[in-house]
Amino acid sequence: MLTIPLIRLEHQGSLDIDAAVPADDPAWEGTDFHFSGSLLVSGQAFWIPSGDVLVRLRLRGVLLQECRRCLAPVDVQVDERMELFFRPANGSEELEGDSFRPLPHGAMEVDLLSAIREEFVLSVPMLVLCAPDCRGLCPRCGRNLNEERCVCSAEELDPRWDVLRALYKKRD
Ligand SMILES: [Zn+2]
Ligand SMILES: [Zn+2]
Repeated sequence: MLTIPLIRLEHQGSLDIDAAVPADDPAWEGTDFHFSGSLLVSGQAFWIPSGDVLVRLRLRGVLLQECRRCLAPVDVQVDERMELFFRPANGSEELEGDSFRPLPHGAMEVDLLSAIREEFVLSVPMLVLCAPDCRGLCPRCGRNLNEERCVCSAEELDPRWDVLRALYKKRD
């Protein structure tokens, strides 16, 4: 259940949230998020007597990413805690700060998934490495340098050695 019925929330004061967002959920369309399995969303929504809604969530799942150096697939364990604040929007009145999300006037429910998606884009690291010392791909031949060596690097070194040799010669 990722929509919160506001009348029920006001009546009960709080509601438990427990949902699984499938990997192929339309919410992820247009993002770079590819999940392995569902994203598990659990937590609680609270009704604040002023009309605000506070939602505390824990998100767990596995994101499929690519190493930014060698492009190998990397499974990224996601375990994020998130707080979302919603406040009824009073016409043109501006909401203080960015921490509150506007609840449209007369809204009957809160759509959590679109808020989760927005927060996710900001909080999840998109630049990952398969290993801290990943050697990446050879810029010339494209070989994965973690798996094999290529001759390009040897060739590339040659001019640098020339420079060093020249320096040493000057010293002599
Ligand atoms: Zn890598
Ligand atoms: Zn190469």
